[in-house]
Amino acid sequence: MTPDGYGVNGRKLRVFFRTTALRILFRGNKAIGVEMLREGKEIKAFARKKVIVSAGINSPHLLMLSGIGPARDLAKAGLPVIFNNPNVGKNLVNHTLNTAVFSMNQRDVGDQKDPFALYTGGAFLPHPFDKSGSRRSVQLVGAVSEGKLNLIIIFLQPRSRGNIRIQNDDPLKIVLADEGFLNHRYDMESIKAIYREYIKPIAMKLSKIDPAYRLMAPSMETIDNDAELEDYIKENFGHNHHQQSFLRMAPFEKGGVVDNRGRVYGVENLLVADASIVPFTVDGNTSAAAYLIGYTIARNLLDENLGETY
Ligand SMILES: Cc1cc2nc3c(=O)[nH]c(=O)nc-3n(C[C@H](O)[C@H](O)[C@H](O)COP(=O)(O)OP(=O)(O)OC[C@H]3O[C@@H](n4cnc5c(N)ncnc54)[C@H](O)[C@@H]3O)c2cc1C
Repeated sequence: MTPDGYGVNGRKLRVFFRTTALRILFRGNKAIGVEMLREGKEIKAFARKKVIVSAGINSPHLLMLSGIGPARDLAKAGLPVIFNNPNVGKNLVNHTLNTAVFSMNQRDVGDQKDPFALYTGGAFLPHPFDKSGSRRSVQLVGAVSEGKLNLIIIFLQPRSRGNIRIQNDDPLKIVLADEGFLNHRYDMESIKAIYREYIKPIAMKLSKIDPAYRLMAPSMETIDNDAELEDYIKENFGHNHHQQSFLRMAPFEKGGVVDNRGRVYGVENLLVADASIVPFTVDGNTSAAAYLIGYTIARNLLDENLGETY
């Protein structure tokens, strides 16, 4: 790409910098282009074939501003309805994030910019309730900070669900996002089990190897006290950026917004290609899944163009 946003070597790419998409343009129920705000001016771009949305956390906002979403919310926001889909913005999944803090042997602190330094990296483990151990459910990441070892605990199979809702018809007004953390009891029970079944044995083994390593927070006593552990988890809850599935790829009647090729239900020539369409909760960090979705949808479109539809 050239610095002013044109594709090089014959590529037909054109990128608009400092530009915000405001809404998708429709003729009837066919997507025909995008309206954008570019350095204070409203401009339009028209598609010869299809419009692909990949605005990540903002994708539901763009769909709702364009008339695709829960009819009641759209009406309240003063927006016309092109397709009433109550599933838009629902089913928001985000992994949970908690920590365990250890004192450590200061000789091990080392240079943390060194990619081979101790503790960079982590482990994937099954759910502590899952005796078969066949499914990744817990990610532990080690990180040294201010002379302490932090084990970051990411629970990868939460059952809590959040949502994204539009506030009004102003495209620059941020949406309301509720990530729904811990609203399903299973998640709290799972995180407590992770502290008991993984963190406690790790702490015991570590301090046997080197007594300089001691679990500081939560303490062993807190882990053994159900109510205290629950309070600790709530008070020290972290925030991940692994939002996914709020425009889920699924059959419409099962909460779907896009079909198995990323096509938005109820309209034509509109696709979504980003982490918002993840069909099942990703059992790791989410960027690889976003890349795969982009790659697969691009491949599908190329194949369709070449007449190789499945
Ligand atoms: C601080 C942070 C750390 C993270 N760390 C990791 C990690 O270590 N490993 C990992 O795998 N994942 C990580 N993630 C998660 C990962 O970045 C996301 O899962 C992934 O980027 C999602 O891809 P996406 O294509 O769905 O959305 P995005 O990558 O968010 O892409 C959406 C794009 O659309 C643009 N956009 C939005 N609205 C509009 C609009 N109206 N008009 C024009 N453009 C618009 C945005 O500017 C953005 O460029 C992290 C995320 C954050 C925020």
